[in-house]
Amino acid sequence: MTDSIQAAADALRRARTITAMTGAGVSTASGIPTFRGADGLWKKNRPELLASREGFENDPRLVWEWYDWRRQVIRDAKPNPAHDVLAAWTRRPGFTLITQNVDGLHEKAGADPLIRLHGSIWHVRCWQPCDAGRRPWRDDTAPFPALPPKCPHCGDLVRPGVVWFGENLDHEDVAAATAAARCDVFLTIGTSSVVYPAAGFVHQARSYGAVTIEINPETTEASGEVDISIRGKAEEVLVELSSKFEV
Ligand code: NAD
Ligand code: ZN
Repeated sequence: MTDSIQAAADALRRARTITAMTGAGVSTASGIPTFRGADGLWKKNRPELLASREGFENDPRLVWEWYDWRRQVIRDAKPNPAHDVLAAWTRRPGFTLITQNVDGLHEKAGADPLIRLHGSIWHVRCWQPCDAGRRPWRDDTAPFPALPPKCPHCGDLVRPGVVWFGENLDHEDVAAATAAARCDVFLTIGTSSVVYPAAGFVHQARSYGAVTIEINPETTEASGEVDISIRGKAEEVLVELSSKFEV
């Protein structure tokens, strides 16, 4: 691992433009379960079934119970050293941070700017949607006094402001991430690389000639494709990398 960290630090030092994309693995050290890990199931329900339009149509209360529980877990979570290092790197010219996470921990650590590909669990919007409730707004209530919560504008239900399985990503976010994939070094950190289009950016980066680096304790769909594979935890590897690569 030391050799691969050294190789990564060398590539970072040589780079003018750097893009990092994170997944649920950067937040496990903050106590937030991933979807695909052992703790991913909630009351025996698969996230893929809950986090979907069909799931919400079938049982909005069940879906909201799950989000209400996740919001309570996340509410008390603190950023870990992986979030801190990446937040510091966002202040470097030419650095872009993209996340698939919805938990708000990059923002809490001070990451700015940040491309949030899958929305935010701290935002809600009207399910219908009514005119006034079409755009997501922040609502920190956790737990909600009654489930499912209602739209203050029209009285129908609200839904979480996240991108569900089967839904399209915001096209401006995709455009920004696609532009950022054209970089000198692309890091993919703590993601299983199975959810598209997010999983495609590392491949795009490589086809543009970027040095690609993966940080993950496990092998993933991307492992065979990247130039440098660092088998380790984000919160440890990033701290070591940041000591060899000053912003
Ligand atoms: P995933 O659950 O599919 O994969 C998590 C990855 O993190 C795995 O490859 C695992 O090996 C790795 N990992 C675990 N601990 C790690 C650590 N300490 N350091 C580095 N890597 C570690 O997550 P995903 O790829 O992000 O895709 C899941 C989807 O679900 C995303 O779309 C995301 O929006 C959503 N999600 C978000 C959160 C969150 O916001 N925290 C949590 C769960 C799921
Ligand atoms: Zn409404």
